[in-house]
Amino acid sequence: FPLSVFTSPSLSLINANAPTMDTVKLNAAALGEKQIRVMSTATFEATVLREAEMDGAQWTEAAYNMISFTKKGSPSPAHTRCNAHFGFFATLQDAGKNFPAIRATDIALRKRYVSTPFAYSRDLYDRELYNEIMEWRIKEPRQTQLPNGGGRGATPARRARGGGGRGSAPFQKGNAGAASSTVCLVCAVRGHFYSDCNSHSFSDGTPLHCSIRDRDIRTSGSHETLCRAWNAKGAAAACLHDQTQRVHACSFCGNKNHHAFSWTCRANPSSN
Ligand SMILES: [Zn+2]
Ligand SMILES: [Zn+2]
Ligand SMILES: [Zn+2]
Repeated sequence: FPLSVFTSPSLSLINANAPTMDTVKLNAAALGEKQIRVMSTATFEATVLREAEMDGAQWTEAAYNMISFTKKGSPSPAHTRCNAHFGFFATLQDAGKNFPAIRATDIALRKRYVSTPFAYSRDLYDRELYNEIMEWRIKEPRQTQLPNGGGRGATPARRARGGGGRGSAPFQKGNAGAASSTVCLVCAVRGHFYSDCNSHSFSDGTPLHCSIRDRDIRTSGSHETLCRAWNAKGAAAACLHDQTQRVHACSFCGNKNHHAFSWTCRANPSSN
């Protein structure tokens, strides 16, 4: 189901109009053992609310409703999953700022689960969300930097408070162009995203420490997968994953004491 079915106004609309609606019996196996009747979800999304257009409040409300919907009846794997799924998004920092990416990740992972169930893994969710946030920042660099609901005056204050200065953010601020404001985590050059990196060396001719495989940053020698979030944000990434899965080592040089965008071992291409 689209999550937009689960907002409280949507649910009461469905309850009120169920007898007259063009209803389709949907198997709710993916959500629980229950079956409910709703009108076709495509019609619902077209006429009432698209899940991809929900705002933060609608999304949160619908998430809670979906969790309690799956809770009805006997304990089911669907309910456990639903809890883990939304629990992951509920614990995120900067949720307001990254809401479009969170919503997109939520939709993508639910759709994937319904077509082929897969085990919940915080690591996987982390990675999917991180990729989505990166993509949203490329698509809409201005929007994703605006805190959601913090009031207009909150933006400069938050930026100032954010501290860390240049280089602590994965993308350099104050640059209008999307791609042009991106700095590559692999070759340290400004103008492309790490997953689009075609470089074979740093700009000074030194060989790269890493290469990209399946959107992962892998060290060239030992084929370790390095953590992208940590390399972009350092300790602020607040990673919870297992260190053996994604190593916290600089993607430019391999040093474990600094992250790539700390600009310890390389010059920041945005600072000149
Ligand atoms: Zn590159
Ligand atoms: Zn990490
Ligand atoms: Zn380094």
